[in-house]
Amino acid sequence: MRKVPGFSDSGRRSSVVGRKAVFLDRDGVLNRAIVKNGKPHPPSNLEELEIPEDVPQALHALKEAGFLLLGATNQPDVSRGTQKRETVEAIHAALLKALPLEEIFVCYHDDGDGCSCRKPLPGLLYQAADRYAIDLSSSFMIGDRWKDIEAGQRAGCVTILIDHQYVEQLTARPPDYIVRLLSEAVNCILNLNVLKKDSKASPPPFPPPSEGEGVKKLNNSPSPLTGEGRVRVKN
Ligand SMILES: [Mg+2]
Repeated sequence: MRKVPGFSDSGRRSSVVGRKAVFLDRDGVLNRAIVKNGKPHPPSNLEELEIPEDVPQALHALKEAGFLLLGATNQPDVSRGTQKRETVEAIHAALLKALPLEEIFVCYHDDGDGCSCRKPLPGLLYQAADRYAIDLSSSFMIGDRWKDIEAGQRAGCVTILIDHQYVEQLTARPPDYIVRLLSEAVNCILNLNVLKKDSKASPPPFPPPSEGEGVKKLNNSPSPLTGEGRVRVKN
């Protein structure tokens, strides 16, 4: 275990032994997003909530490997008045019952609210790190949108994009890995975890795993962004 690194903007962490966590975005990661015109939307009620087949088993494998599993989600429709907070809470209660998650951290704000928790800001991850004494540099952020990836990058996590081929731009700085399913993201994390344990000299924090089915390791140069602003995953 490593010590939790200090953060210049919080000044609170210096000597706490940190836990390793996997932060998971909600819509498009834990449950299916409702895709309209190439853009993802949250389920509007419990009836629309659908958990992909590979998700429960993948999360149980992560938990067995010792990772703390935490949801981190923006739900701005509550602030916009188009969704009830009770409905969001009912969806989260259902997810917590069905999946081995410790907690789901939520930002209910919209862009104009000036909060520090709405992704791409890393506030939700910092809240979780404080509550659970998490070592963010040994942790992962899995998301399906650029805001998830940027929040993970700002917090110092390894980032994995589940690419659902939405019509939107990604971050200027690409994610560390791109996959198509949560189960592939989990395999990537488990491979990195094994490599890290087996490594005795002072290796880089996360040696790259072998590129398996659907998993692509990104290099910083050249940029993986195509002219259309999309990241393509090789078959
Ligand atoms: Mg999402």
